[in-house]
Amino acid sequence: MTLKKFQASVLTLYPEMFPGPLGVSLAGKALNDEKWSLETVQIRDFAEDKHRMVDDTPSGGGAGMVMKADVVARAIDSVADHRPKLLMSPRGKPLTQKRVRELAAGDGAIIMCGRFEGLDERVIESRELEEISIGDYILSGGETAAIVLLDAIVRLLPGVMGNQESGETESFETGLLEHPHYTRPQVWEGRSIPEVLTSGNHGAIDKWRRVQAEEITKTRRPDLWEAFKGIKK
Ligand code: SAH
Repeated sequence: MTLKKFQASVLTLYPEMFPGPLGVSLAGKALNDEKWSLETVQIRDFAEDKHRMVDDTPSGGGAGMVMKADVVARAIDSVADHRPKLLMSPRGKPLTQKRVRELAAGDGAIIMCGRFEGLDERVIESRELEEISIGDYILSGGETAAIVLLDAIVRLLPGVMGNQESGETESFETGLLEHPHYTRPQVWEGRSIPEVLTSGNHGAIDKWRRVQAEEITKTRRPDLWEAFKGIKK
């Protein structure tokens, strides 16, 4: 049996932005080691008119340009298979660690990066693109969002993260934000490491961390805390 590998196909007008940050550190090493693969597709290659236009003015008027449905559809169809087809979009469902885990468990993803005002709505419908947002703010293009998404996915792939456990205790994985971290020296600028952490009492340490995580979640993210209390019941 051949080992399944996460295959990412990124559709973009700026392929030179990849692998970018995904070419260094954990993700870059995993890419070199062929634990995942990354191909870019230049959307402009699928423009058929003599000016190779990928965008046009919005129907109904207004500012900006809209990516043409026919060009985007041809680019998507050139790589489409059984992998999920994603569109980075501020109108999408906000990305969660849960969705990242689901995607990481699959064979890969086709990721469409928008530019200008975005895509003609008809291609989003006809190619059944899943719109994913990385937060409530506007980027100049989908590429940086795609890099964020892939970074989050790749670190979860088997054999990518050195210490698998550190993935499981991370913020969001447990429904809580993570507890604070400390490392030597014992005293720095007059501030000490909480005593319990140097006590060697693992039961007490786990309990302290748990209480801290709950406190931080309660005060910083009441929304997560409410959801967490719901799960616990
Ligand atoms: N006119 C659009 C914004 C277009 S921004 C609107 O008001 O909703 C241009 C492109 O950047 C988008 O097509 C999308 O691919 C990407 N983008 C911008 N903000 C994003 C976000 N928060 N999450 C994911 N992708 C985003």
